[in-house]
Amino acid sequence: MQGVGFRPFIYRLALAHELLGWVENRNDGVLIHVEGPADAISKFINEIPVHAPEAANIFSLENTGIPLKYYKEFSIRKSENTSEEITEISPDIAVCDACLADMKSQKHRLNYPFINCTNCGPRFTIIKDLPYDRGETSMAPFPMCEICNAEYKNILDRRFHAQPVACNQCGPIYQLHHNGNTSTDLNNILELSKELLETGAIIAIKGLGGYHLACDAQNQDAVQRLRTGKNRDGKPFAVMFSEIETLKEFLTIDDIEKKELLSWQRPIMILQNKPGGKKLAPDVSVGFNTTGAMLPYMPFHHLLFEHLKIPVIVLTSGNISDEPIIIDNQAAIDQLSEIADAIITYNRDIYNRTDDSVVFSSNGKNRMIRRSRGFVPSPIHLNQTVNGIFAAGAELVNCFCVGKDKQAIMSQHIGDLKNIESLDFYTESINRFKKLFRIEPELFVHDLHPDYLSTKYVKSIGGKTTGVQHHHAHIASCMAEHKLDEQVIGISLDGVGYGTDRHIWGSEFLLCDLADFERYTHFEYIPQPGGDQATEYPWRMTLSYLYKYLDKETLSLDIPFMHSIQGENADLIIKAIDLGINTPLTSSAGRLFDSVSALIGLCTHSSFHAEAPMRLESVIDHNLKDHYPFTIEKSIKFRELFLEMIRDIQKGKPVSYISAKFHNTIINVIFAVADRMRKDTGIKSVVLSGGTFQNRYLLSGTEKLLDKHGFKVFAQQRVPSNDGGIALGQLLIGARRRKLGTP
Ligand code: ZN
Ligand code: ZN
Ligand code: FE
Repeated sequence: MQGVGFRPFIYRLALAHELLGWVENRNDGVLIHVEGPADAISKFINEIPVHAPEAANIFSLENTGIPLKYYKEFSIRKSENTSEEITEISPDIAVCDACLADMKSQKHRLNYPFINCTNCGPRFTIIKDLPYDRGETSMAPFPMCEICNAEYKNILDRRFHAQPVACNQCGPIYQLHHNGNTSTDLNNILELSKELLETGAIIAIKGLGGYHLACDAQNQDAVQRLRTGKNRDGKPFAVMFSEIETLKEFLTIDDIEKKELLSWQRPIMILQNKPGGKKLAPDVSVGFNTTGAMLPYMPFHHLLFEHLKIPVIVLTSGNISDEPIIIDNQAAIDQLSEIADAIITYNRDIYNRTDDSVVFSSNGKNRMIRRSRGFVPSPIHLNQTVNGIFAAGAELVNCFCVGKDKQAIMSQHIGDLKNIESLDFYTESINRFKKLFRIEPELFVHDLHPDYLSTKYVKSIGGKTTGVQHHHAHIASCMAEHKLDEQVIGISLDGVGYGTDRHIWGSEFLLCDLADFERYTHFEYIPQPGGDQATEYPWRMTLSYLYKYLDKETLSLDIPFMHSIQGENADLIIKAIDLGINTPLTSSAGRLFDSVSALIGLCTHSSFHAEAPMRLESVIDHNLKDHYPFTIEKSIKFRELFLEMIRDIQKGKPVSYISAKFHNTIINVIFAVADRMRKDTGIKSVVLSGGTFQNRYLLSGTEKLLDKHGFKVFAQQRVPSNDGGIALGQLLIGARRRKLGTP
């Protein structure tokens, strides 16, 4: 990868062991030739993986004996292979410990908030073009001072060829705008920030990939004000703790989660609130028992926490509603001033917008929810070529993907394309990826949904296109991650995907490979009143299910749910179902979870995407093992499930009981169907994907049950199982069709 300082590291290591020879970057890796005493060489080899720059991904390290060439020195060779440029770009890297130490000891970088070295600092967010040189980054307007330049040129220095190298003399600076005044003195900025945050103010702070909004995470008034300011945003806010020890006072964390949290990617980890632990303001997580937490990753974050008495701040994306995170300084001042009492900015441009990445852990493995800062644009290595293919992704949590040789390069999280700003971000990013990675696509893969803006985009280009069914793409995405190329049992549960029968699919049991799929079974079709709108009104799905199974008795049913929707137009919804007006049929797992969540009073109206299923998951009684009955005929039917849930509600069973029993039912449905499919076909590999598998309880329960019964189970880890991962599957399916000549 470019810009992670691997070759200079090898150079210094060779020098330390008094070895001679050279190191060279190639398309397929790094080649090193060393000569010297055998024990020095073996020490050298052993130390490579131990001391290599953190962001240098070492997949494998092989060595072999070679004839002596009697080199007189050790050198970094210019790449001989100039025909094909090396186009791997490093993601942004959290500030390293050595730089944090330098920040307190180097005279010219005392408290310098943009300190970095070859092992750390901004990368993707500041790169305009390749080759990765300062002139092609947003550091271009900052010529190096003499001291920085000397470090930059000295191969023995940790800042050798660190493109964003800078110091207090020559680099970018922070500015604080408050009450019409602008301050550029860092100490003033930090002192004022402290004063503001500690008195409940909201501050917009420019981050690596975009602006954040910050406030004291223990101050309910401040958090509430932030929530109102962000416009009916009911989503939990992410928080940043000063350090891991502080985090442990609030949240529970195991070793796997800790490792991810402290990694150079520094993602947001979804962690369980600590029972009896310290509490954040209730409005941070709006009733959920989990919190999205991260640790400081920019030098400025560290400096800020040095000043603050507050141990934890909300750090949520700086945008209004669902628009892309703001990166432009003037836009931040114009748009965020309404919410924020002060705006902290700096004078280096963010070129490539990236949100914070989000990860959760289930069954001892970390799984990506949003793949962005720290991970993009690292390629996903495949075992087959996908060269020249563009995959458009889906619509709601869009990411696209481009193929280069055997690498899939996924874009950062783009967002909901229905948002005009997100659509601009989409087309702009596509053009940048084409330029950055030197790709001119010849095959364009899209979702089958004719109205997705990603589909329309692809169709408007005029190249060769191929459409891929949504859930097939989900499964192929997971297959790509695990390098599977065989017939598998693919189980894709999610909210919505366009089906080949034009109904809304979302609980698909597929027999599939990378070329094609056969739909084995699915959840029974149910009318979805109001179409897409139903996602905002989970109660409508409950009503639809009840009406399907109880018919005329529905409206006279005496349970709290029916009373809770008295003000709604339930009779009209039923009439619409009867007449088939705007009530498309759906097999969506997401809508089933919605309906149960509303039925037991957890969420009748949803204020953000997937709120109802998330609330349903959050109340599960983890000790309960029972499940409800279900029927597998041509499709999977839930009549008994609903009748028994109603009985349990009438008996006054707690929501924790019903939710657990419901989740256990779905786990058992998945197992029962997979078992049938195995008996029918002999296939043992089960691939799980789709947004519903972001439900930790469901995912871990399903994995364990299938595993116990001898299945080989594959779920997504480094690529999201939600629609943010779908482009990877599209890419692979496109490649296979191209190979077979069947696009
Ligand atoms: Zn560093
Ligand atoms: Zn300097
Ligand atoms: Fe999906």
